[in-house]
Amino acid sequence: MTEPFDPAAVLAEFIERVAAYDPAPSAAPVGVVGVRTALGEATFAMTDHVARALCRALVQYHDPHDRGRCAGCGGRHLDENLHCRDCGRLHGILGEVIAQHARRVAAESTEQT
Ligand SMILES: [Zn+2]
Repeated sequence: MTEPFDPAAVLAEFIERVAAYDPAPSAAPVGVVGVRTALGEATFAMTDHVARALCRALVQYHDPHDRGRCAGCGGRHLDENLHCRDCGRLHGILGEVIAQHARRVAAESTEQT
């Protein structure tokens, strides 16, 4: 990737790499994408081939911060300890052990009262 980070350069690099395999390189574009940043602005013609490659890239994309969804609230914000930042639920083996312990303590305290 280029330095300093330039979204337009990244898009240009993606299109250049994908366009090399376009079976119909002279076909009319299906759209135009514009990028405006502090570094300037650029527009890119999107062919059907490039648009489909973008779709395939999105399907294969996995964000490094994606740790699944919370079983409690369905949120997507689990930290590296599988702790939900939205509702506080812990996941994984440690989270299950803690949840079992909390249920056991709660059951014992209701038995004693
Ligand atoms: Zn949650």
